[in-house]
Amino acid sequence: MPGIHAARRDRLRAVLAAADADAALITTLVNVRYLTGLASSNAALLVAADGSPVLATDSRYALTAQRECPDLELVTTRTVETELAGLAGRRGLRRLAFEAHEMTVERRDALAADGDLALQPLGRAAEDLRMIKDEGELALLAQACAITGHAFDVVAPQIRTGMTERELAVLIERAMIDLGAEKPAFDTIVASGPNGAIPHHTPTDRGFEPGDMITVDCGARYRGYHADMTRTVVLGAPAAWQRDLYALVFAAQQAGIGAAGPDAAIADVDAAARDLIREAGHEEHFTHGLGHGVGLEIHEAPMVAPARPGRLAYRVPITVEPGVYLPGRGGVRIEDTLVVRSGAPAAAPDMLTTTTSATGRELLVL
Ligand code: ZN
Ligand code: ZN
Repeated sequence: MPGIHAARRDRLRAVLAAADADAALITTLVNVRYLTGLASSNAALLVAADGSPVLATDSRYALTAQRECPDLELVTTRTVETELAGLAGRRGLRRLAFEAHEMTVERRDALAADGDLALQPLGRAAEDLRMIKDEGELALLAQACAITGHAFDVVAPQIRTGMTERELAVLIERAMIDLGAEKPAFDTIVASGPNGAIPHHTPTDRGFEPGDMITVDCGARYRGYHADMTRTVVLGAPAAWQRDLYALVFAAQQAGIGAAGPDAAIADVDAAARDLIREAGHEEHFTHGLGHGVGLEIHEAPMVAPARPGRLAYRVPITVEPGVYLPGRGGVRIEDTLVVRSGAPAAAPDMLTTTTSATGRELLVL
């Protein structure tokens, strides 16, 4: 759909005009994808403030680029960014804004060696554009999330004593692929028993034991868009502390979701959940931010964390994922991907990761 990508490039041009740059050299691959539709492991895009954009990629992607981006001038080369920098110089685009957060010093030096370009940092302009999604993106994200929830519901009844963390991770990933995911959005986390105290535990050969809480953090990738969801269940009858911990984290998540309205201050959304956990005496056991944006990357703007500046907006997808981690004992995290919606007085966000199992105030007992 060239129309969408052209509109995105127009929004970038407005940033260039404000920054007094002649052109932007986009070298972050996911930003190239966002602005052109081309998914390539070697590509760059030159967007002139005034003039037609030029896409560079190598011969492995040339046919795909011609098909996906028929409206773009295409340069087929392996050295994508030096080629486009040279082209910029020849077209009189001297003030060239580049993505300093992605560029290495070595590559920057190679660009600077080429003629009399005046390089200036673009900042995270493309990332900022990506924060608010269009409805087409939200449909892809919703599909990624639906696959994720469905896969969890298929696999959860198979969890039993003796199954290992790695076995469960593979089952979930296999189910997501079977349901249409192009691949997992990230390495699936399965943390059981005491391992649940490690927020990003790598699955091991530990076998599940009766009384274990098991935290599963998984997501499908669908046409480039990433889902992110966490569920915590218990194998056999839960202890009182496990029920209480789950109820606390669930209440914190509900508070965070309730605060995630359009124009809500990001710091307030984090605080809505974190305050409940602090009041319960677990402030030091909630060791990460409340959530993050998702889209073409699994972690993208906005980061939802204490004292973060900025506000949410209509059509921004985020995760809300409070967790409490007790060293030596275990932990609970509950995470959903949702979309901030507009409305009066305040529309509830769209919940994208829905499951029929392990949803609600009560800890799911398997
Ligand atoms: Zn997650
Ligand atoms: Zn997450």
